[in-house]
Amino acid sequence: MSTFTVSARKYRPQKFSEVTSQEFVTQTLRNAVSIGKIAHAYLLSGPRGVGKTTIARILAKALNCTDRKNGEPCDKCESCTEIKRSIHPDVIEIDAASRRGIDDIRDIQEAAKAHPMKAAYKFFIIDEVHMLTQQAFNALLKILEEPPPYLVFVLATTNPEKIPPTITSRCQRFPLQRFKVSEISAKLKEIAAEEKVKIDDESLFLIAKLGDGALRDALGVFDSAVSYCGNKITVEELTSFLNLPQKEIYFTVADFIQKGDVKGALEFFNEQNSKGLDIQTFFNGLTAHFRDLMMTSSAGSAELLDEPDSIRDKFSDEAGQFSMDEIIRILKVLADAEGRIRYSSNQKIFMEVMLAELCRLKAEISDLSEILSEMRGAKKKALTEGAGGEAALGSGRADVREKDTGEAGTNPGVSKEEIIVKLKELFDAEEYKFN
Ligand SMILES: [Zn+2]
Repeated sequence: MSTFTVSARKYRPQKFSEVTSQEFVTQTLRNAVSIGKIAHAYLLSGPRGVGKTTIARILAKALNCTDRKNGEPCDKCESCTEIKRSIHPDVIEIDAASRRGIDDIRDIQEAAKAHPMKAAYKFFIIDEVHMLTQQAFNALLKILEEPPPYLVFVLATTNPEKIPPTITSRCQRFPLQRFKVSEISAKLKEIAAEEKVKIDDESLFLIAKLGDGALRDALGVFDSAVSYCGNKITVEELTSFLNLPQKEIYFTVADFIQKGDVKGALEFFNEQNSKGLDIQTFFNGLTAHFRDLMMTSSAGSAELLDEPDSIRDKFSDEAGQFSMDEIIRILKVLADAEGRIRYSSNQKIFMEVMLAELCRLKAEISDLSEILSEMRGAKKKALTEGAGGEAALGSGRADVREKDTGEAGTNPGVSKEEIIVKLKELFDAEEYKFN
């Protein structure tokens, strides 16, 4: 029976050249190894899951490899194999999250005094180093002040600002970057091909996004998706497994909003809700959708979106349906509702009211332009009446003014009072919305 190895471990890079992105770091370390300029301490910082300990282990292998080429470890010799299996006596890994006290560092001090047993370098990898106590940092500083020539430390941390400057100033520092969604999805695609798993582009991007910048986390989602969907992953199956609404849902809702179709929007929402759509997830998704639409509209293309081409095309099409002003107003309503929906005792009703409000926004904007044009008409009428005292309607003078401003004729039958009432209604609605 074959045993299952999680992808994050199975596809853990074993050489500098295999590390996804972080080229600046891997290239610098590789050069340092090949020209023999090795520092006593390195500090690798960056968010979780970006490859800090992976790079530390590759460096340990590269330094101790018996068949090294151009700064790369062979990954085959006894030393490389032992480091890979975490049984090399001279490569010691410590998790400072669980071993953070002075005694733990004293053990390291003792161990550091002894020469390496079989390798050229004695190598300590201290993960989450910011967790060490002050005393432990002081003890570590003592070692770093006068390190024996064979000693190399790699300190890894997600919180470099918590490390005393006395320590960081003795380290060569390498900040590691979060992975881009496109980088993670490209890596997932490679792994899927290797594993003979068929997966569509939309699923790749969805899993990559769930990784939130960490390849390891994305690979975890990928593994669960494979165990649920088998060797063929489609976005339909994946979204149902993850209990996430598909992108398509938001395009449909945006379409109802664009058309001002309150009834359609509410029916559609209720249908999705009865199928088990989580309201908070839906709300977040809708906000993200209009944020993406804003990006598309402002950039004039969907290039910046972390989405597969099929979805980018849809955003480009949709951007033509909304003005920037409309998108901003919709986002304002959503942003305003964000805090309230979480604590609403009836999220469903809250969501329905909000959808209706969003559908009416477009109608209100045309109401507003209608009123503005009515106001201009009334102003002209008043001006004409005031200036001549004669009946403005049909007079040559009024005709000239119309032509001067180049505006279309407005409804002369609306009284000032009616306009004020209409304006008041509109501003009341605005107040309700944005306060
Ligand atoms: Zn080797």
